[in-house]
Amino acid sequence: MSDNSGVYDLILVGGGMVGATLACALQQSGLNIALLEAYPFASTQQPSYDDRSTALSFGSRRIYEKLGLWAELREGATAIDQIHISDRGHFGAARLDCAEEGVDALGYVIENRILGQVLAERLESQGGVELIMPAQVERVENGAEWVSVTLQQAGESRCLQAKLVVVADGSESALRQQLGVPTEQKRYGQTAIICNISTDRQHNNVAYERFTDSGPLALLPLSAGRCALVLSCLDEQVEALLALSDAEFIAHVQRRFGHRLGRFTRVGRRSSYPLQLLETESQQQGRVLLLGNAARTLHPVAGQGLNLALRDMDALLESLLAAAGSGADLGAPTLLAEFVEARRADQRQVVRITDGLVTLFSNGFAPVVALRGAGLLALDLLPALRHRLAKQMMGLGGRLPRW
Ligand SMILES: Cc1cc2nc3c(=O)[nH]c(=O)nc-3n(C[C@H](O)[C@H](O)[C@H](O)COP(=O)(O)OP(=O)(O)OC[C@H]3O[C@@H](n4cnc5c(N)ncnc54)[C@H](O)[C@@H]3O)c2cc1C
Repeated sequence: MSDNSGVYDLILVGGGMVGATLACALQQSGLNIALLEAYPFASTQQPSYDDRSTALSFGSRRIYEKLGLWAELREGATAIDQIHISDRGHFGAARLDCAEEGVDALGYVIENRILGQVLAERLESQGGVELIMPAQVERVENGAEWVSVTLQQAGESRCLQAKLVVVADGSESALRQQLGVPTEQKRYGQTAIICNISTDRQHNNVAYERFTDSGPLALLPLSAGRCALVLSCLDEQVEALLALSDAEFIAHVQRRFGHRLGRFTRVGRRSSYPLQLLETESQQQGRVLLLGNAARTLHPVAGQGLNLALRDMDALLESLLAAAGSGADLGAPTLLAEFVEARRADQRQVVRITDGLVTLFSNGFAPVVALRGAGLLALDLLPALRHRLAKQMMGLGGRLPRW
């Protein structure tokens, strides 16, 4: 696909979950595209396809169906039939159920590594996108007609050009900083510890979200009877929790979660992720568009980060394919500005819900505790309220993919 002169229609920086999904979506577009990624897909250092698992919403399933990737992803995914929400030490719990929503699953849990394998296999086997990796992108410079991208590959510096550059290089995006894109950041004082954990009772495809005084704890159903644990804790507790023996860590999680899943029997390798809300003031700068975590990083409390980014990706895909079909300039700033505007409402809503949940459930003030207990009870008793929350969790609360 490359014309070998280093000139492209589109350059994607970052082959993590967002960049690689967009690359797969554009494989058959006939556009001249390069994907630049710092680590080979199979590298153990690849930061996107690490030990985490991701809850994909029902809406994300539909996006992957549209891209022809769902059959492969489904093989490695575990369905979420129910979501159980509770507040540790307080009254009130609520349940969402796929049968009540008329769908065969509320969402699916997939190990990031499996997601990475499926995306890599598709990109490597079907071509259509030039994979330049490992390559470290150092600079992106906006011009009136073109964007220049400077990268380091095998100790050599190269310069490429494209009409449009999509930067999906993650939360710590060095390119966002190099471009001088202003951001707003809110540290929650919480860190997520993730690992896989086995229980002596079947999870029966139930996902648990339990709010605790040190942050939310999620247990997501995985294959082979395992669960993916996302344990939020206060920043100052992380080191001690990572230093615990497996047996001590299991005892800690058991105390915080209780015995709904029986006894925890085995625990896998633990990793930690500091949690924050990070938003760019604008995800567009000239002919450069920031996508995924580089544009917006969320607390994982409701499992919305990738799901929201996939909806962004899907909307961008539509506008790129329409522009390509009519021979329009892919990186025209007016086209990108339209995309940014069209996505704003869904993004704001997800940020509001995610940030609101963390704030509400981190508050120990008695009236607030009573209010959220009442909220959970109302959720359990009122089908209409439950239905609205389920729609949001399923990724169907904002823009519906058009097909
Ligand atoms: C604990 C935890 C649990 C989560 N659970 C969920 C969930 O259940 N559901 C959900 O929807 N979301 C979840 N998320 C959010 C989700 O992980 C992110 O939305 C997702 O990782 C964003 O992907 P990305 O491709 O934008 O960034 P990343 O995954 O960070 O990928 C960035 C890529 O860019 C590459 N890169 C970086 N710099 C350069 C450079 N200079 N040159 C070339 N390449 C570069 C990196 O190597 C990497 O491959 C969770 C997040 C956390 C922390």
